[in-house]
Amino acid sequence: MIMEPIIGIDLGTTNSEVAYGFEGRIEVICEGDDGIVASCVGLAEDGRVVVGKEAWHQAVAAPDRTALSVKRLMGTEEKIRLGAESFSPQEISAFILKALKERSERRLNRPVNRAVITVPAYFTDAQRQATREAGEIAGLQVVRIINEPTAAALAYESGNPETRHILIYDLGGGTFDVSIVKIENNVVEVLSSTGDNLLGGDDFDRKIVKRLLDHIESKYQLKLAEDPVALARLKRSAEAVKKELSFAPFALVEEDHIGRKNGQPVHLSFELSRHEFESMIENDLSRTMESINKALKDACMLPSAIQKIILVGGSTRIPKIAEMLEDKFGIQPHGEIDPDLCVAMGAGIQAAREMGIDRSAVLVDITPYTFGTSALGIVNGNPSLTQFVPLIRRNTKIPARRSEVFLTVVDDQEAVDVRIYQGEAPDAQDNVLLGNYWFKLTPSPAGSEITLHFDLDLNGILKIRAVEKHTGKQIDAVIENAISRFTADELSQTRDRVRNLWDHGKQEFVDATSQPAEPSVQENISDEFLDVIHRAEAKLGDAAEDDREEIINRVEDLHDALKENRMEDARRFRDELDDILFYLED
Ligand code: AMP
Repeated sequence: MIMEPIIGIDLGTTNSEVAYGFEGRIEVICEGDDGIVASCVGLAEDGRVVVGKEAWHQAVAAPDRTALSVKRLMGTEEKIRLGAESFSPQEISAFILKALKERSERRLNRPVNRAVITVPAYFTDAQRQATREAGEIAGLQVVRIINEPTAAALAYESGNPETRHILIYDLGGGTFDVSIVKIENNVVEVLSSTGDNLLGGDDFDRKIVKRLLDHIESKYQLKLAEDPVALARLKRSAEAVKKELSFAPFALVEEDHIGRKNGQPVHLSFELSRHEFESMIENDLSRTMESINKALKDACMLPSAIQKIILVGGSTRIPKIAEMLEDKFGIQPHGEIDPDLCVAMGAGIQAAREMGIDRSAVLVDITPYTFGTSALGIVNGNPSLTQFVPLIRRNTKIPARRSEVFLTVVDDQEAVDVRIYQGEAPDAQDNVLLGNYWFKLTPSPAGSEITLHFDLDLNGILKIRAVEKHTGKQIDAVIENAISRFTADELSQTRDRVRNLWDHGKQEFVDATSQPAEPSVQENISDEFLDVIHRAEAKLGDAAEDDREEIINRVEDLHDALKENRMEDARRFRDELDDILFYLED
């Protein structure tokens, strides 16, 4: 007997998704490689009802024939006009559900008539009832309505028997919700839920658009605020640039022919930094923190009682959000299950359970370690040359890419030593050094920007690129087995063991099984030379001009010798450098 399928649906304000429990795993049903259906319904020019991307694309040109964010109207008596026709919110939602139902039928190759649908925890009975009705209009029996935070908790915690308190921070395109749930024996109880119905990524896009309009007005004396086509283009660019800034410290908006001034076309080229973007949305993020305080108060809990934080909603990819939460709770939030798909995954788990199949945890590929670099900064409250700056954090879904910007310390700095570490300690020296690259710079004033890019793939290959921003000059490196098979503790023990043996001058055989997986790097500098190089860098900042030049030349000679495997020369340069430093450090 074939069991009748039950699908799990996240019916969202901006986007919707559907998931199903295939053999042993929960999968969001994609078409092409896209699992997301925009929650947008339109009447095309030829009278067809269109849903998703097609409707979204016509939204600017034909707003009178397009419905967006219908979820906000669920449970009300309002009517929505599409051209000459008028619809209830349930009917518009039913079109979205029908599109998801048909998508599932194409994938499963059989009829689908039953579904689990998620709703926000704060939805009233009337709103829940309207959601059920929407399902029924679409030809779906709604076997269960579950809360969105419950679904998110199931996606992460299903199969974990421990009792835990979890905070779910859900920031989407148009709404923010924060919930505290208790999960016990796979049963999720919502202890509190609050939020802001009118806060989300769309607000951030609007702020960027305003910044672009101000820039165009001040640079070209051109006002575009009333030009719908230019506005629509700027809005799309703003969203793209916002997304890029989640991974890179700078992003460029380029829009040719955005307007005309004195008969001449105006081309927009504007660089926005992550730093400026973060200050633009600072107040919005503070509001979400206030909601968190309220949720804690409603649940009668202190921040220390929260054992896990889950990030849901596309806007939680903004790195500042995880930083703020980590500062407040002292634990690193989890966003490894795609934050756009997490609620649908949980709905899929619940749907599988309703079918009598218990699909446990959702499996995702994550990095078990943090990867970063070292820079001048603060460690344990004291100034340090080796503050660890994480780029790709532990538990990030892979493949992952991140970039960060660093500044030169002195005028005409000739080089920078780019070090790549794996670990969690605030002092990079306590982490595992994976690679060490010498990057010669073009003379320029102190404070010049160098961007460091990390790209970690599913095979654990970490690609590194350092780029001098003002010239575009760059170096590339590859660490083949960045995710080694050792735990952080084992790595630090084996590293100490190898170092001790080395320090004692006993280059005795080290049992291959106890050696850390040696990362293959372009230039892997042994400890014999590292100490002197570190001391040289430490001295660069306060050395006189002549001495600095001397140090840099000697370090470069040393690097060249090492690269070419001229060990005798390398040792000679090391000793010469040691002499210079001895005299300077005295
Ligand atoms: P959701 O409603 O959960 O699908 O979230 C959609 C919102 O997430 C939109 O405002 C998107 O612009 C935003 N979003 C998606 N990806 C990113 C990203 N990488 N960085 C910042 N915001 C993003």
